[in-house]
Amino acid sequence: MKMPAVVHYALQSGAVELREIAVPDVGDDEALLAVGAVSVCGSDVHQAFNTHSWPVNVPVVLGHEFGGTIARLGRAVRGFKEGDRVVSETAAEICGECILCRTGRYNLCPSRKGFGYGVDGAMADYVKVPARCLHHVPDSLPMEIACLTEPHCVSYNAMCVNATIRPGDAVVVLGPGPIGLLCTRMAALSGANPLIVAGLAGDGARLATAMKLGATHVVNIQAESLDEILRSLSPIGADVVCDASGASRPLDVALKLARPDGQVVKVGWSPDQVPVDLNPLVHKNVRLQGSFSHNYPIWERVLHLLESGLTKAELIVEHTANLDGWRGAFDAMHSGRAIKSVLVP
Ligand SMILES: [Zn+2]
Ligand SMILES: [Zn+2]
Repeated sequence: MKMPAVVHYALQSGAVELREIAVPDVGDDEALLAVGAVSVCGSDVHQAFNTHSWPVNVPVVLGHEFGGTIARLGRAVRGFKEGDRVVSETAAEICGECILCRTGRYNLCPSRKGFGYGVDGAMADYVKVPARCLHHVPDSLPMEIACLTEPHCVSYNAMCVNATIRPGDAVVVLGPGPIGLLCTRMAALSGANPLIVAGLAGDGARLATAMKLGATHVVNIQAESLDEILRSLSPIGADVVCDASGASRPLDVALKLARPDGQVVKVGWSPDQVPVDLNPLVHKNVRLQGSFSHNYPIWERVLHLLESGLTKAELIVEHTANLDGWRGAFDAMHSGRAIKSVLVP
């Protein structure tokens, strides 16, 4: 049986196309999902332009933010049945043996391979996933929102696990991309106040969305001084700075904005290597924390937040298309017209 799939086929810019490929077979511990919805990640767009900073096994089907219905189930799978609505975590391959796997932090397993770059992803009619990746989706949660569990988990891990926010903490989020906006929401839910989101002149619409997601202030750093605005609200600096810019350079700014004994959490990355003044890190005793991916308890918690409507996920979906429209969906995100595009196969 054949199906259409959005395939990243070579390590060069523009090497993505819709192809007919075989529907995968499932092993004993796996499930075949009929994809209900798959959202486009900035990383999918990076791969399409060959500007990613991670190894990609081409050819590979793109898409790691997805949900669907179980179409076929391996013999050994327990706790799920055909027809169940599910979302899938992204750690498609892990070793299962290392200290990180054995302590439930398999997202950090050195052998981890994710959907959409290491293993075929979900921009297709069907995707094969290990049963350990599955989570039930509440009936009331539409698939077009459930597929956004993954980026919400990235943001929850950054703001609520890797960083510590207490009610009344001054929090700055650099970069109002999809992850920055979801980090803003997680900070708002954690009681951040003031909560300042910083972007560029072209980010007007996204900064307006940031206000709807709970920001108390937004700053166009090309017209205003972020440092002055922060100091007018919290003279000592920010308790937590989240660098969600997806670039390396703003780490410099983040370290300057953090208060003594404050935290900087970096989520989002890029291949550029830049010189950064690390002296504030030492001088101010700042805690610098990277944040990568997510694990089981984060997924269960985020599904609860999505079901209860606390995340306002619908505010970021601005473009929906079927698989044929993948190019327009990628372009809408690349050009900034859509915060998030969702494909419905
Ligand atoms: Zn993603
Ligand atoms: Zn491992």
